[in-house]
Amino acid sequence: MEDNALIVLGCSSATPNSVRFPSAQVLHFRSKYFLIDCGEGTQMQLRRAKIPFERIDSIFISHLHGDHYFGLFGLLASLNLTGRKNPLTVYAPEGLEELVRYHFLKTEQPFSYPLVFVSLPKEPCACIKSGRGYEIRAIQLNHRVPCWGFYFVEEPKERKIRKEAISAYNLSIEEVKCIKNGSDLTLQDGTVMLNEELTLAPQPSFSYAYISDTVVKPDIAQYLPDVHLLYHEATFLHELLSMAEKTHHSTAKQAGEFAALVKADKLIIGHFSARYKDLQEHLNEAKQSFENVELASDLSLYTLYKPAYSIW
Ligand SMILES: [Zn+2]
Repeated sequence: MEDNALIVLGCSSATPNSVRFPSAQVLHFRSKYFLIDCGEGTQMQLRRAKIPFERIDSIFISHLHGDHYFGLFGLLASLNLTGRKNPLTVYAPEGLEELVRYHFLKTEQPFSYPLVFVSLPKEPCACIKSGRGYEIRAIQLNHRVPCWGFYFVEEPKERKIRKEAISAYNLSIEEVKCIKNGSDLTLQDGTVMLNEELTLAPQPSFSYAYISDTVVKPDIAQYLPDVHLLYHEATFLHELLSMAEKTHHSTAKQAGEFAALVKADKLIIGHFSARYKDLQEHLNEAKQSFENVELASDLSLYTLYKPAYSIW
């Protein structure tokens, strides 16, 4: 699977319907598989998406409503059965660790792998995981229970040095390093070679924001300064705005407005109420403010540059 790609495993809210599972998705990012939310049926959907369970690097649970984590117990148990040895970290609201450990204690199933829980932070936005060239941040949302969104960001990449420049000027390792960091090169005769002549522009960095259950929250735009791919919940159509506000959810229209506010490159809307069979009106509403929008669909793959396609 290509990098910077999102597979939606489930995009239904509250209850599944005949074509949509509850929330779960996998982001392939920096050659790793990150599982985001884990509603009931996630294992089945992972199998259909041909994502091996043991390739999951870590798991991010947005909040403790069952449609976002009831699949976790089964998945953790299966990882035992398949003999996982690598550590697994679950980033989740406080309380989930207790629920999981109690369950596995009572069912007398010790884990075959180190299972680590990290509680999501109290700050409005904080880094929860970082690796070579990337960071993952948790952003507090506004739902009926504590709820977080997740922002996966690549650091800006270095400029690439032109191969012919290395041989033409017999560059040392130290000089290559400086040039990659943006320095110009002064030749022995005093000629200055500008950095742009020696290097190629870097690959653009990628970022993905998962905005789970929330009343639309424009103030978090400050934490999403450069979002490329954006998933925003759109549980209801705008005619049910009062229902959305009462249940702390967003409408498709609001999701489109939010994407325009943060200047995303592409918006995916999901977490649809099971009452909706046809989602065309959701798409129309979001498009009123933001053109580049796609409907989430179970077992479809999303990237920045190509239209979504079904993998099942
Ligand atoms: Zn919820």
